[in-house]
Amino acid sequence: MQQLAEHGIHVVDSGFVRPRLDAIHLIEEGGRVAIVDTGVNDSVPRVLDALAGLGLGPDNVDWIVLTHVHLDHAGGAGELMRRMPAARLLVHPRGARHMIDPARLVAGTIEVYGAETAQRMYGDIPPVSAQRVVEAPDGTAVELNGRRLEVLDTPGHSSHHLCLFDTRARVVFTGDTFGLSYRELDAGDRQFVVPTTTPIQFDPQALHGSIDRIVALQARAACLTHYGPVFDLERLAGDLHRQIDALVVLAKTCACRFEGAAADMQGDGPGSLRRCLRDGVRDLILAEGRRQGWAGSEDDWLRIFDLDIRLNGDGLAAWLVRTERLGGQPAADSRSDAGRSTASMPTKTFGEPATSCSENR
Ligand SMILES: [Zn+2]
Repeated sequence: MQQLAEHGIHVVDSGFVRPRLDAIHLIEEGGRVAIVDTGVNDSVPRVLDALAGLGLGPDNVDWIVLTHVHLDHAGGAGELMRRMPAARLLVHPRGARHMIDPARLVAGTIEVYGAETAQRMYGDIPPVSAQRVVEAPDGTAVELNGRRLEVLDTPGHSSHHLCLFDTRARVVFTGDTFGLSYRELDAGDRQFVVPTTTPIQFDPQALHGSIDRIVALQARAACLTHYGPVFDLERLAGDLHRQIDALVVLAKTCACRFEGAAADMQGDGPGSLRRCLRDGVRDLILAEGRRQGWAGSEDDWLRIFDLDIRLNGDGLAAWLVRTERLGGQPAADSRSDAGRSTASMPTKTFGEPATSCSENR
């Protein structure tokens, strides 16, 4: 962490749900600031405190950058924009309209979490004036007091996800594209990552490609929203690729077991597709923890990953339904990176008759 403070990069705990779950990153260059991801409305005072700790205030903020518009990243943006009159909001072209008119975003969040929980977690989401929103397609570069920040389009976790590469520090801000990495489970200095497949736009093939683009930057660190800087990016990327492939196999196996992803999509009781997926995700998390020698007990791991296990399972269900509806090209077998083994991947896409299912049993 100290290494990055030298480069003007600071981690602020948004306080969302629990400590060290949801990070807000500040990039400071000569008294001007970019904020990468915003936490939620309740995080706003923490951002102001962090700025004050740097001897700065709301007027010093030039950019608020959203890696994507899921509300654990973007929920505080409207309120921060209201308080930071010089700031512009940098957001993926597919996310921009949701910040200008959050109605659909809120509806989507209610679909995932339920109305009561959504309101309790995120509160009201104020709109951002369109004049202050800058759409950032791939290759966009902005200046922070002369420090060049470059945008990469990184679909896979969501279709409106970008990563921000700080060319001066050689640090990349990866939102959820480079997975989840909870500091309390690190085995000493050894960090780990676990992919996130949150509903509703998980796309494994795109995610593999985005991870490869992040590695190709040869950054000194990736700053994850969940949580903070990780190093040794090549090793961690390999772990992500392997786990994404395992999640795809899991999803197809569960789909085959129920002979179609439409089976009991609503419920999560025994025998439902959702239960199969969540249980499978839980088992993969436990296997990864043992493989990496995570700190704490397996009960700790399950408690820390509780929400992720549910969301990852549900995101896989959403992916199965979506790809079946589209006629199905979900397999990771056609991705371009020949250097990575795809031998364990079924070559047939989900939605084909029972022969492809039998390969998974
Ligand atoms: Zn997130």
